[in-house]
Amino acid sequence: MGMDRSDVHHAADTGEDHPHPKHELGYYAKRIYAIRDLLIEKGVLTQDDIQRQIDYQEARSPANGAQLVARAWVDPAFKKRLIDDPKATCAEMGIDATSINEFVVLENTERVRHLVVCTLCSCYPRPILGRPPDWYKSLNYRSRAVNDPRGVMREFGQELPDDVEVRVHDSTADMRYLVLPLRPRGTEGMSEKELATLVTRDSMIGVVDPLAPQ
Ligand code: FE
Repeated sequence: MGMDRSDVHHAADTGEDHPHPKHELGYYAKRIYAIRDLLIEKGVLTQDDIQRQIDYQEARSPANGAQLVARAWVDPAFKKRLIDDPKATCAEMGIDATSINEFVVLENTERVRHLVVCTLCSCYPRPILGRPPDWYKSLNYRSRAVNDPRGVMREFGQELPDDVEVRVHDSTADMRYLVLPLRPRGTEGMSEKELATLVTRDSMIGVVDPLAPQ
């Protein structure tokens, strides 16, 4: 196999999001396509199975989390259920969180902000937030989120007063977190649907507060 260092590097840099003609693919990407072709050829999977799984993965997005957060902001009973029994409450909203073993919802307050990281790799609540952003998987974030969470938040545009406590939560294969951010001020007249547009992915990881109303 013609694997050299530049190939490996290229595969790592290219990421999974960019469609390239096959001849430009790096070693690992080529290997994945070869395995896919073999699985189809041997009748283990069909092209339809694979496409269905891709569609399912792509359908999971931060919109799911934003829906949960906005509902929690307008409905205190829902919020309580979401914190007490997150997976069942997701099911109520048509969100399938069954693949998460232990799912924990962390409620931000005026005094405490929660920040989520996976120091080991890239564990992330995919059913709720879709695929993790590249920075979440970076060594830089994974180390600095623990050593200097306030500094990380500052770089995302969030300056926290000294009297606000920051709690960092390390995700694992068994444990996934969703930050329930504070409802922004000045949103009293907004509908649940409008509120959901303020709930960003990053605010549910905890690096920033949600958007302010326009
Ligand atoms: Fe991980």
